[in-house]
Amino acid sequence: MIRPHGIELLRLPGVVHGFFDRSGGVSLPPADSLNLAHGEDGEEAVAENRRRVLAFFGGDMDLVTLRQVHGKGVVCVEAGDGRKDGLADALAPEADALCTDIPGKLLMILTADCQAILFSDPFKKVVAAAHAGWRGSVQNIVAATVDTMVKRYGCRPEDIRAGIGPSLGPCCAEFIHWKNELPSAFASFRREGDLFDFWAITKKQLTDAGLKPDHIASLNACTRCDMRWFSFRREKNTGRLGAVIGLLP
Ligand SMILES: [Zn+2]
Repeated sequence: MIRPHGIELLRLPGVVHGFFDRSGGVSLPPADSLNLAHGEDGEEAVAENRRRVLAFFGGDMDLVTLRQVHGKGVVCVEAGDGRKDGLADALAPEADALCTDIPGKLLMILTADCQAILFSDPFKKVVAAAHAGWRGSVQNIVAATVDTMVKRYGCRPEDIRAGIGPSLGPCCAEFIHWKNELPSAFASFRREGDLFDFWAITKKQLTDAGLKPDHIASLNACTRCDMRWFSFRREKNTGRLGAVIGLLP
């Protein structure tokens, strides 16, 4: 059985979401088993895993993916986007966030230590999903996502809910080259041993973008500490977790 983990404040009428752990798929080691990205794995296994994700939500949605590039590009999903078999990633746009008000589109972000952040506006009926590794955090991809929800779909930041999925926690996000890689504004999020709290960085970026603090939640799940998740830092050759959100058709 596949097991999506949920965040309470994203549970809204007409909205489905889930952060899938690595269990319940067909991929073999080292990508065992619910690997949702090509790379370490054969296309048939990934296709079957994606079918299971779609089936979990009733099978009547189109899976929409990106070619994630650690930037801050946001794609607005249109009626013809996505596929029932969830394949054809090569045709997906290069960007790091998806946004839509169209029912029946299941937006998917793929990670193994990076953050997936899922968004929902229950009033405008808009959902979004963003991918933020440290490069995405530096470029503030979450603010770019909120900005698109506001400008394109008329959302009010104070109405938007955001949930942060499993990623490297403050226990494991070590950046020994932080002085070169991270902006000085991140220094206050540094802990002992060059560890950084990227969950707190994302929460700060979201509140700076106008979200209410009590509309932001995190699973507080560290991918490197917990074997239920894929972790690039722990395993190098590994699969990719899927985080999904969509409006029911
Ligand atoms: Zn950890």
